[in-house]
Amino acid sequence: MTLLGDAAHPMYPVGSNGATQAILDARVLARKFQTMGVTAAALQAYDTQRRPATAAIVLANRGDGPDKVLDLVAKRAPDGFARIEDVLTKVELENTAAAYKKTAGMDIDGLNNRPSIIPPSNPS
Ligand SMILES: Cc1cc2nc3c(=O)[nH]c(=O)nc-3n(C[C@H](O)[C@H](O)[C@H](O)COP(=O)(O)OP(=O)(O)OC[C@H]3O[C@@H](n4cnc5c(N)ncnc54)[C@H](O)[C@@H]3O)c2cc1C
Repeated sequence: MTLLGDAAHPMYPVGSNGATQAILDARVLARKFQTMGVTAAALQAYDTQRRPATAAIVLANRGDGPDKVLDLVAKRAPDGFARIEDVLTKVELENTAAAYKKTAGMDIDGLNNRPSIIPPSNPS
């Protein structure tokens, strides 16, 4: 028996990752079954791959996730602001987003450079 999606790793309500990570869980699990059969070893291999990946996202969102920019703005402009550009630089915004994308596995280079989790089958 194993778990996937919210049952395995309930996410904090930030970062938009609950559904996407559930889909990744399902794809990885399907791939393990495809290559290793429906076996205990396949379940273990799935768990070994997905547990650290999803735990990293939960931990990021508990502390230093993408919403940290909200804390920064509140700290720098406690009385409000007229233009967000006066409070936060574009580079700060981009760096925060880039770090989170890397943790969540959705950075563009990472996605483009890794093979498909379930490669298309060859028509014979
Ligand atoms: C307001 C809100 C906004 C969200 N926004 C995003 C977002 O922008 N991006 C994102 O990636 N994620 C988002 N999420 C998270 C996402 O919806 C969940 O992470 C995702 O749905 C989890 O999928 P799941 O299949 O694990 O669980 P679920 O979608 O909860 O599916 C579980 C299913 O099991 C059924 N079930 C329960 N008990 C039993 C039983 N005993 N027998 C049979 N069936 C049962 C339930 O009815 C349900 O259909 C959001 C969630 C909320 C609430």
